[in-house]
Amino acid sequence: MLEIYKKLPKTNCGKCGVPTCIAFALKVKNAQLKIEVCPYVTQKNREVTTPKPMATMEDNYERVSSELEAEAKHTNFREAALATGGYFDTGKDGEVIKLTMMNKPYEMRKEGLFENNTYCHDSWAKIIIYDYIRRKGNKPFTGDWVTLGYFPHTASHVKAFQRNAEEKVASAFNKDMHGLKARCRELGGIETQGKMRADYICRFDLLPQIPLYLCFWDADEEFAASCKLFLDSSAEAYIDIEYLAYLVERFVELFIHS
Ligand code: SF4
Repeated sequence: MLEIYKKLPKTNCGKCGVPTCIAFALKVKNAQLKIEVCPYVTQKNREVTTPKPMATMEDNYERVSSELEAEAKHTNFREAALATGGYFDTGKDGEVIKLTMMNKPYEMRKEGLFENNTYCHDSWAKIIIYDYIRRKGNKPFTGDWVTLGYFPHTASHVKAFQRNAEEKVASAFNKDMHGLKARCRELGGIETQGKMRADYICRFDLLPQIPLYLCFWDADEEFAASCKLFLDSSAEAYIDIEYLAYLVERFVELFIHS
């Protein structure tokens, strides 16, 4: 997918019918669109190897999660738990790392990822947790709150992130501070304070070492509500940035729709 992405102009103009170039690259990779659909790709760059048409997006997620699973299984679990804020245990199921992602408990075992004692079939949950475990980030929090655009190679995500995450939260809870606080509590958020001046700040642990700070400014007579989501700058040591962006968007979906 990255090879295809490199051949695109990365302007996220949307003329291909897909909001971002990275999403377009994924569709080309999955044989759902042809690269010629982007009017800015040169003839030379059209010579991209496309995969077999039978591969669906779900097949690709499953393939990536299987590859990462194979790698994560060979990680030293005791070390990985220590490095990632997970809880290491040994029991009848052998070595286990227990951790919580977005307020939901998971167990990483040598057979793979488990949820409620059942093998997890959510490819994206597996991709994110396997990547998190195999990286063994082991970096203390810096205390620097940064937006997604701070991390390398995220420029193309920034607009879509504002639209799909921050603006969605702001409009869902415009003039509804009470509802916002209730939703934060439901999802295990902890009211906190930080360097930002905001009407309300809440911390969520997306993963044990990946806190997300939701800062909310309520509407007044002049302006509608606004929202900013911050991460600790240490996050890139723990997870691939593409997966991080997806994790935050998934959190927002959960935050707004459940
Ligand atoms: S891939 Fe789509 S979004 Fe990206 S430049 Fe081409 S038409 Fe625009």
